Amino acid sequence: MKAPPFGYRRVSSAAEAADALRELGSDARILAGGQSLLPMLSVRIASPSHLVDIGRADDLRHITADNGSLRIGAAATQWSVENDQATTAAAPLLADAISRAGQVPIRHRGTVVGSIAHADPSAEIPAAVLASGATLIAASTGSEREISADDFFQGPYMTALEEGELLREVRIDRWPDGTGHAFEEFSHSHESWPVVTAAVLVLLNGGTIDRVAIAMSGVDGRPVRAGQAEHELTGQAPTPELLAEAAQSATRDLEPFSDVFGSGRYRKRVATALVRRALTTATTRAGGGA
Ligand SMILES: Cc1cc2nc3c(=O)[nH]c(=O)nc-3n(C[C@H](O)[C@H](O)[C@H](O)COP(=O)(O)OP(=O)(O)OC[C@H]3O[C@@H](n4cnc5c(N)ncnc54)[C@H](O)[C@@H]3O)c2cc1C
Repeated sequence: MKAPPFGYRRVSSAAEAADALRELGSDARILAGGQSLLPMLSVRIASPSHLVDIGRADDLRHITADNGSLRIGAAATQWSVENDQATTAAAPLLADAISRAGQVPIRHRGTVVGSIAHADPSAEIPAAVLASGATLIAASTGSEREISADDFFQGPYMTALEEGELLREVRIDRWPDGTGHAFEEFSHSHESWPVVTAAVLVLLNGGTIDRVAIAMSGVDGRPVRAGQAEHELTGQAPTPELLAEAAQSATRDLEPFSDVFGSGRYRKRVATALVRRALTTATTRAGGGA
């Protein structure tokens, strides 16, 4: 099948992209790496009137770490972010998650921000972004707003972006030195689409858990944070029994969807195992002996 006809506009800056979205109306779409959008066009799941190509917008390609905050622009490819020293230092959880997302040639074109905007419910990058407590910067002509990752993901392929908004940047505040991280994923074969993922950050203080974040994908229509389990872990010594209980707690209220890759029940069991494994690894990396 061929893609339906569409107009094409290449822009050279974020401002031009926002102006183009305003001018071209609600049926125009941003083209970033094209690794999800172009296959969708080919099978006619999407039929935008225009594509606004941000691939050559110089002010969207940045990857910078200032004052403990990592900033990734909308045109920065997954490969460039995953191999960037500022990212591996400030957000190793994100770097790990990216390295699991598809194959290297895909990551050379696909963008981190594009994966966030696409909001596939099983994808790796949104889970890592959610666990990291990231902030998303949405831009439209003449204005910008910040959206927390907690509020950004609203359902399968649905986000808090409004008509005419470009997702310009993702910002991740660095967790303190000594934080342990772990990204776990189950997929049916190496480098294939994830079925379930778990992203975890753990900070210890004097042998107890000072701060912890747990997020999962593939268990709901959007990536989810395990707030209750985080609450139960905070202030406690990370024994293997506690981490196992927290993993149960993280998935207890979930009612995952079923599809050809796994039933809801199966996804829930896999998620429990992955969260437990990720908590154990992250705690060990943080200097604990779980
Ligand atoms: C063979 C193959 C394997 C893959 N495996 C995986 C995998 O294992 N895990 C995984 O997570 N993904 C996987 N992908 C998807 C891939 O990682 C995509 O790169 C990613 O999902 C989207 O990023 P992109 O830059 O390519 O976005 P595009 O495809 O260009 O855009 C995707 C959607 O997001 C919108 N969008 C993009 N950027 C913005 C922005 N800045 N502002 C507003 N809207 C925007 C577009 O309009 C479009 O609707 C795979 C793709 C292929 C082809």
